[in-house]
Amino acid sequence: PHQFIELLPFANHLLPLPSLQAVGSDGVRISMESALTARDRVGVQDFVLLENHTSEAAFIENLRKRFKENLIYTYIGSVLVSVNPYKDLEIYTKNHMERYRGVNFYEVSPHVYAVSDNSYRSMRTEHKDQCILISGESGAGKTEASKKILQYYAVTCPASDQVETVKDRLLQSNPVLEAFGNAKTLRNDNSSRFGKYMDIQFDFKGAPVGGHILNYLLEKSRVVHQNHGERNFHIFYQLIEGGEEDLLRRLGLERNPQQYQYLVKVGDTRASLYGWVWNGTRQKSCNRGNCPKVSSINDRSDWKVVRKALSVIGFSEDEVEELLNIIASVLHLGNIQYGGEDSGNAYITTDTQIKYLARLKSPLNLEQASSARDALSKAVYGRTFTWLVNKINVSLTYKNASVIGLLDIYGFEVFQHNSFEQFCINYCNEKLQQLFIELTLKSEQDEYEAEGITWEPVQYFNNKIICDLVEEKFKGIISILDEECLRPGDASDITFLEKLENTVGGHAHLTTHKLADGKTRKVMGREEFRLLHYAGEVNYNVNGFLDKNNDLLFRNLKEVMCMSDNKILTQCFDRAELKDSKRPETAATQFKTSLAKLMEILMSKEPSYVRCIKPNDAKQAGRFDDVLIRHQVKYLGLMENLRVRRAGFAYRRHYETFLQRYKSLCPETWPSWQGKLADGVSTLVKHLGYKPEEYKLGRSKIFIRFPKTLFATEDALET
Ligand code: ATP
Ligand code: MG
Repeated sequence: PHQFIELLPFANHLLPLPSLQAVGSDGVRISMESALTARDRVGVQDFVLLENHTSEAAFIENLRKRFKENLIYTYIGSVLVSVNPYKDLEIYTKNHMERYRGVNFYEVSPHVYAVSDNSYRSMRTEHKDQCILISGESGAGKTEASKKILQYYAVTCPASDQVETVKDRLLQSNPVLEAFGNAKTLRNDNSSRFGKYMDIQFDFKGAPVGGHILNYLLEKSRVVHQNHGERNFHIFYQLIEGGEEDLLRRLGLERNPQQYQYLVKVGDTRASLYGWVWNGTRQKSCNRGNCPKVSSINDRSDWKVVRKALSVIGFSEDEVEELLNIIASVLHLGNIQYGGEDSGNAYITTDTQIKYLARLKSPLNLEQASSARDALSKAVYGRTFTWLVNKINVSLTYKNASVIGLLDIYGFEVFQHNSFEQFCINYCNEKLQQLFIELTLKSEQDEYEAEGITWEPVQYFNNKIICDLVEEKFKGIISILDEECLRPGDASDITFLEKLENTVGGHAHLTTHKLADGKTRKVMGREEFRLLHYAGEVNYNVNGFLDKNNDLLFRNLKEVMCMSDNKILTQCFDRAELKDSKRPETAATQFKTSLAKLMEILMSKEPSYVRCIKPNDAKQAGRFDDVLIRHQVKYLGLMENLRVRRAGFAYRRHYETFLQRYKSLCPETWPSWQGKLADGVSTLVKHLGYKPEEYKLGRSKIFIRFPKTLFATEDALET
């Protein structure tokens, strides 16, 4: 009858003792006997209680046991580990939300709602801004977790009339941003292709009254190119599949994704028909995703959701039309084809497309003309996305009050082929890891100090050395890359690689083919450099680094955009930009600056963590792939996290909670202790025979060094 039994071993002082000491996840109390069998079956709900806390195998075994029982959440102290179930579990109902409301972290089974509620209460009672950092690899469940947190606040927080609009807008910002910023990839059918930090703002009554979103590094290259089996951003398919007839007519679009070069893989026949074959070589841009239909996605119904969301957020019909006009223009732009003149200059062969667009006329060869076209598409799409985020922000009317920030940002990525994008993403993860380690250590240390217990320093790997290697002024990788981007003459991806070798070649965390020893060299390409990240080694291919970092757009194209009738475009392409003779900041430097700002924001808040794990690569329910999971446990730094958490004491509880639970075990504390709580606990544990090295008494809490001490006490309750 209690399928998902959750043992609440220590802290539930709400339950009468000793006859009933556990509850199933359905909230029903169960007998201790079934609870004890459950402990074997479902593992421990907090990894600090693992007997062998240094064993990775034991860690993974505990995860597996719980996963099998659909218990996808487990704590490491206050950090929540979540394993993507790839199926809908009945644990997100309003009833569940109520169960977590205002309840102590340890009294209910682990849940993302517990983390949400804990942050909310800390914000309210301690008046300190909070943030919840969600991390994990693609498909691990970060975005789903962030949506669940947002829903929790929307449902459980107090409300007023004006608040309802803000709540709606907060919730509705998700489908809009997902339409424009998410895409089907090989790893995730709804993969976020941008990083997102969202502040939810609360008034003095604790009602959500506003919000603000920061977006990071949208993967613009997807607009013009997707790997096989992947798609462009959802909005393109939603518009084509769901758009009303007359809308499509006005936009000059056909209801068939196959018509658009940016959406389909172009076969050889069509390629030659459309002038894609030139000088006998097929252009590399021919290679596109070729999978407009995805079984898990219904573009037509998503379109309706997005349209509704846009109006809830406050877009006027005109604005929506202009926005969609831009989306359609990008598709038309992609269909512009070129032929080659004898002179080597390209000319446009697709006249009909041009009426929708400003003319592209420039003495470029075919390859240059295509890449100028693609650069324009990327710039238009990228800037429109930023405009969209700003527009949502305006509608969320941000004021200065208490906030809870949610960070949903790309996890560490290692592919067969890693490029500039992976370099930026992994650098971002390196920074977040640094923050995580610093803050976890710091909060441990702070607690020990606050409780007056001596802090024994913990050894840990500080990844600052890798962050420095990437971001240091003058001799960091980004500086070296920027230098090559600025250097006139023969600068190329390869000279960048050579410069890396010459400048940071001796660094313990960087290798190139030339620098590697015989064994390593075999597994490295000549155009690669390898970084030894905290999470493991990654080879980056330098091809395209300079172009992607420069992210240049021809001046005359910018001019044309400034002259557009489309009001959104004129906001995206500002005339002032044309006058400014200063070179725009490179992509990597912009990213570095925005990350530094993000770190400042996060540092100023009290953090909570959700660490998401993807159980298998097949997106299947019930499959627990050991190798894949071990890898993630490693690069999420979970063992390290557990080690820090366990370095001193495995378990700690407030005197009151501890006494309440175990007072029946000692005649002097039963039925109630009249003196100071600390003295009561002291009397109790002496009576239980705790040895001095097994525990310490702080100002308000008892600290217990080993789980076994506690298990013995827990078992004593039974007899
Ligand atoms: P990316 O980095 O690619 O954006 P992500 O970590 O944000 O990945 P999600 O989009 O949140 O991953 O999750 C991928 C899919 O996994 C979801 O579309 C959903 O099908 C499933 N999923 C994730 N979390 C849950 C959950 N708690 N319950 C049920 N299904 C889930
Ligand atoms: Mg996501």
